[in-house]
Amino acid sequence: MTTDPRSRAATGPEAAPELQATPGPQATPGLQGARCAGCPVTVYPADDTCPRCGGPADPVVLPGAGTLWTWTVQRYAPKSPPYQPPPGGFVPFALGYVELSEDVRVAAVLDVDDLDGLDHLRIGMPLSVTAGPGVPRARPTTPAEERS
Ligand SMILES: [Zn+2]
Repeated sequence: MTTDPRSRAATGPEAAPELQATPGPQATPGLQGARCAGCPVTVYPADDTCPRCGGPADPVVLPGAGTLWTWTVQRYAPKSPPYQPPPGGFVPFALGYVELSEDVRVAAVLDVDDLDGLDHLRIGMPLSVTAGPGVPRARPTTPAEERS
């Protein structure tokens, strides 16, 4: 004769975990550019006139995702203005060109944690681009974003 431990009564109802359906914070995708009405030129930042033919250009929202076209590390302070150094002074940063589509490449600060750990940057890698107060910012697209 043994006592079955499973016979012990369950102690109270377990609280069902709430499913969190709230999405995480997401930056607004897309950059405000312009597309020429007369020729196949798309520009960023937006301009009223086409830099190629001088014709009128209409506002267009460019995709907020692209691929890394090339990149470098800015190790000295750019000319100021237009460059605005941060309050603590200039710190080197990674700067890349992101190809949003076949004809549009946008310069963007690459948001990376450590300038010594740039080995993961690859030409052609997917990036998410968000408009900022100045130059757009880009960061590697997360696997979850790639699936969506
Ligand atoms: Zn044009």
